Amino acid sequence: MLDRARCLDLDRDDPLGPVRERFHLPEDVVYLDGNSLGPPPREALRRVGRAIEEEWGRGLVSSWNDAGWFEASGRIAGKLAPILGARPGEVAVADTISVNLYKVGESLRRLAPARPRVVVEREAFPTDRYVATEVFGRENVVEIGGPGDLDAALDDGVGVVLLSHVDYRSARLWDLEATTRRVHDAGAFVVWDLAHSAGVVPLRLHAAGVDAAVGCTYKYLDGGPGAPGFVFVHERLAERLRQPIAGWWGHADPFAFEPDYRPAPGAVRFQTGTPPILSLVALETALDAVADVDWNAVREKSIGMCRLFVERVEAIDAEPRQEVVGPADPEARGSHVSLRSEAAWPIVRALQERGVVGDFRAPDLARFGFSPLILRWVDVWDAADRLAEVLETGLWREERFAARRPVT
Ligand SMILES: *Cc1c(COP(=O)(O)O)cnc(C)c1O
Repeated sequence: MLDRARCLDLDRDDPLGPVRERFHLPEDVVYLDGNSLGPPPREALRRVGRAIEEEWGRGLVSSWNDAGWFEASGRIAGKLAPILGARPGEVAVADTISVNLYKVGESLRRLAPARPRVVVEREAFPTDRYVATEVFGRENVVEIGGPGDLDAALDDGVGVVLLSHVDYRSARLWDLEATTRRVHDAGAFVVWDLAHSAGVVPLRLHAAGVDAAVGCTYKYLDGGPGAPGFVFVHERLAERLRQPIAGWWGHADPFAFEPDYRPAPGAVRFQTGTPPILSLVALETALDAVADVDWNAVREKSIGMCRLFVERVEAIDAEPRQEVVGPADPEARGSHVSLRSEAAWPIVRALQERGVVGDFRAPDLARFGFSPLILRWVDVWDAADRLAEVLETGLWREERFAARRPVT
């Protein structure tokens, strides 16, 4: 195992180290919640101010033409595409995961009326289950527990399989390539939710032949609170899809104001209405900040950080015991670690007071995300120390940590 001095050495020699300097992080905080809301790029602080003062304030409506606002979604989708392993025309930036799941799910459902069923994960993020259930109908929802159940669920009534690449609680990572092949062999479409993998797990969506994928940009991609999500649709499929929210920004020529809908080519048809320009401005600075990043190096660091944290947590000898949830093999997980205990909420709160920010996922998980682009090895070391301290001293038992807050 490493020790603290060795962590400092690793940080000094870390080729990803300089990327952290491009982000604004408070001093004295170890931020292990970049998987819920990434920190702001330093450039966003300047760029969004300028967009408000000069482009919005002075340019007013002419900024749609003069400040590149009209092209912003397409330009930003083009910058996101390489991170997803997509071709430029295969990505649209718009809306939220929930809305994008509806658009993608409904357009695929219409394409395969003879196969009315959808496979979803029992433990999936709730929005995925809610939307799939509304689109396909409760009677058509087939639930699976995990990879071991997939084969048995696939039959010729299943049209769509919706999976989270990385589970938001356990961090279990699906084999995206093999699973996509398996679903295709069974004659169904696969939709991947990339919320916890985009920006941290290397992706090759085009080469893997993925039909469609959705994701957000406010987690590992650091686009900002409420930053728009994205849709990937494979180029072989896009022209066959009609998305149900046939909005003017997905039209081939929005400013022709034609009475009838004509979808734009490729993934752009998954745009709907007027894009949130200020959010897009922030998101673009985040994508620019990571444009030169080697995603395989990110993955390697992520695996190492999760391994280090798990080893150190398992060495803690204090109550309540922290059960590491999800796969033991760090190669089989995404970039977060969830710890189960009956005191998960007050432990997360006490850790926040000690300068370590994680989050809580009901009913009993303390969750810690390791964003390799903004974290140092020594942060992982120190976070485990703080956790040990909070448990050994019983700090978490103090009354002020008990009350649940609206966002956990
Ligand atoms: C964060 C997250 C979402 C969020 O959906 P929004 O509609 O963008 O709020 C969806 N799915 C998963 C798996 C998530 O982790």
